[in-house]
Amino acid sequence: MRVLVVNAGSSSLKCQLIETDGKASMMKCLAEKVGSDDAYMNVSFYPDFDKTRYNVGGMRVEQVLAKLLDVLEDDPESPVSGLEQIDAIGNRIVAGGEYFTRATLIDDEAWENLLKCEELAPLHNPPADACIALLRERMPQTPQVAVFDTAFHQTMPPKAYMYPLPMRYYDEYRIRRYGAHGTSHRYAAQQAANLLGRPLRDLGLITCHLGSGGSITAVNHGKSIDTTMGFTPLEGLMMGTRSGSIDPAIITYIMRREHKSFDEIDALLNKQSGVLGISGVSSDMREVLEAADAGNQDAELAIDMYVYKIQKAIGGFYATMTRTDAVVMTAGIGENSAELREKIFAGLAHMGMILDKDRNNVEGAIGVNRIISIDDSPIKICVVTTDEEIRIARETDALVSRM
Ligand code: ADP
Repeated sequence: MRVLVVNAGSSSLKCQLIETDGKASMMKCLAEKVGSDDAYMNVSFYPDFDKTRYNVGGMRVEQVLAKLLDVLEDDPESPVSGLEQIDAIGNRIVAGGEYFTRATLIDDEAWENLLKCEELAPLHNPPADACIALLRERMPQTPQVAVFDTAFHQTMPPKAYMYPLPMRYYDEYRIRRYGAHGTSHRYAAQQAANLLGRPLRDLGLITCHLGSGGSITAVNHGKSIDTTMGFTPLEGLMMGTRSGSIDPAIITYIMRREHKSFDEIDALLNKQSGVLGISGVSSDMREVLEAADAGNQDAELAIDMYVYKIQKAIGGFYATMTRTDAVVMTAGIGENSAELREKIFAGLAHMGMILDKDRNNVEGAIGVNRIISIDDSPIKICVVTTDEEIRIARETDALVSRM
């Protein structure tokens, strides 16, 4: 099945055309700085993926998508000569609230509920919805699916998802924990079950998505029972530029002391904190590791804090599970940084998670799913590679094939 995957953000648009049978990408598109005058869109096609750059300055995200559809129709190198050759569309949606517990075909009812979710992620959902609206117009015969970051976590029990605030905040505004990175945690759990050669429903897993954002999930018998992200993706771990969980009283304290506006405090917590805020070097873990190697003490502290918070989350979830068979590492840092994995698991051996240093650091193993714990580690440690667009394409294929 040929699936067009659309991943629209507040200032970016990532699309791929994926042939799910061969799991191969036939077209890749990345537009950045969308909305600004110097916005651009790079489009490339199988097999060479030589990029062509288009100026999309001043366009809204759905206008950039319309431009991509034109390119797909008109470019002689395009793998399709007409949009009707695309079998389905998979849209990544950040927030599905309590309306969506799984990937969903976008019919009129789902569309209405999608619009109701906009207030839960005001930066992310509206551009994605604008793209869906455009696609409903341009490709009305093509089934469209919404794949949610939150859906996998809808199995969390109330004790995990409720905040200890007055009940009316849940009743009136649905303020609760929704989690994020759901497709990644679901995929990582399934891949780990494959590696372990056991059905997912028999396993207790702790999945760690460690990228520029990061979250950890307790997956008990295939279901998310708790996760570190909350009402928004700001809660939980320390991340590239996000603070993660802090004492909420700090926010009002800083606002009072420095007369900060709501937008300023939002930017402080989401864009200027985390690894960047502590290291003062970068939000990119590679650069921070290099700086620490060169003796930068703030960079070293940022790494120590980053690792410590992950260790505490893994330990905390271990306590909530009925069994733990494996810890699964995925995303940019989880997949690629043997150094950070070594630091994280150095503190967890006493819980039965015993890293094999050689397996952890095999030259050329990046991109290969594998077990990196010692043979008799009571709890296995797995590394699993993830690709968001391919996951969305597969979920879309699975749903549309069943129709
Ligand atoms: P996102 O998709 O959320 O932007 P990624 O999953 O691509 O994030 O992860 C990006 C993070 O992964 C960056 O902090 C980057 O520095 C880090 N990363 C990638 N490769 C390595 C590596 N070899 N060592 C350490 N960190 C790495």
